[in-house]
Amino acid sequence: MEFQYFDAHSHVQDKDFDKDREDMLDALAWMKIGTVAVGTDLASSEAAVALAQRRDPVFAAVGQHPTDTDEAFDEAAFARLAREPRVVAVGECGLDYFRADDVAAARAKQVPLFEAQIALAAQVQKPLMIHARPSRGTMDAYREILDMLTSAKREYGDALTANLHFFAGGLDEARAFLDLGFTLSFTAVLTFARDYDEVVRFAPLDRILAETDAPYVAPAPNRGRRNDPRAVQAVVAALAGIRSEEEEVVRQATVENTVRTFRLHKPERP
Ligand SMILES: [Zn+2]
Repeated sequence: MEFQYFDAHSHVQDKDFDKDREDMLDALAWMKIGTVAVGTDLASSEAAVALAQRRDPVFAAVGQHPTDTDEAFDEAAFARLAREPRVVAVGECGLDYFRADDVAAARAKQVPLFEAQIALAAQVQKPLMIHARPSRGTMDAYREILDMLTSAKREYGDALTANLHFFAGGLDEARAFLDLGFTLSFTAVLTFARDYDEVVRFAPLDRILAETDAPYVAPAPNRGRRNDPRAVQAVVAALAGIRSEEEEVVRQATVENTVRTFRLHKPERP
């Protein structure tokens, strides 16, 4: 399947889509919009894989979110899922201190979970889908992820790659992740907030991806409503506007970048 647009991160397996998922995926197929259905725990990862095996526009990422669940990380189950051909990334995983009352305690819990998934990604040679949310007024989660991935990169070399989902870091963090060879993905937040414009302009065209994070983060003027992967078009338009580039150029680049990052050249079916 040739893609017109590629939404690098969504949750189309979520219950929010139970009523109209098949119609929505038919529309995506017709519009040639691809998406990566991202798991946040074992059940949603399994659902993402099942959907990706059944529907062409959908690929899957499997992983455990740092704060969405309290379940223990089932290494064997995730290792089995991560090897599925339609699985293109490990995650979303990372560090999230945004709502932590005690950052040290959150860190102690989240770091081993993230480390297990870094090792898994290196082992199956698939990129990490990184979730990072610092505590208020800091870049702590980004700085710590950078440290962890810098040393992981020393250990695993080229086997370790990553996309920073919903990138909300500053210029320094962007530069550091780009130096590691990673990509940054942006959401429809760009349609209503100006906080990321500098980073969006700074990142090279061949390192940016467009994502919806659907059902979350609907673009203006639909804020607060359920989002879906079709909104990737609004994200591409926003990226192009902020960067003062042709929308067609950005559309093509984001598709190519996503195909390259997630190695979608030969999407096999089991
Ligand atoms: Zn997400």
